[in-house]
Amino acid sequence: MDLDEKNEIYDIFILICPNCGVGNPEGTEYCIFCDKNLKETILFLEDDSFDLEITEEFLVEYRKKFWGAERTGKVNKYKLTEIENIHIGSPVSRFIFEYKGKRVVFPLKEENLEKIKEYFLDNV
Ligand SMILES: [Zn+2]
Repeated sequence: MDLDEKNEIYDIFILICPNCGVGNPEGTEYCIFCDKNLKETILFLEDDSFDLEITEEFLVEYRKKFWGAERTGKVNKYKLTEIENIHIGSPVSRFIFEYKGKRVVFPLKEENLEKIKEYFLDNV
């Protein structure tokens, strides 16, 4: 097997599972490792201190340890219909909203902020 063929094999596993981080072949319905329904993921963003997933119903926050990719196991779910007063962006790249009377702030990388902005502009 030459190098090109090898790369092709790795390229197939491009669908990252938001729940466990395992790469799945594109088009997979349920994660090959943890059985999560991958079709329900609308948007998945990896950031420095958390990963964010948007599904039809929820914004899901997977907390990470400081300065690392490892997750803490803490997961916060925000029902999309109860997210209010969304503020995205400038001057600092923050995604801010109110949820059940509490202010929630996510500092986001620039490219992730753009994706969040796109999603909420189209859907809220
Ligand atoms: Zn998984």
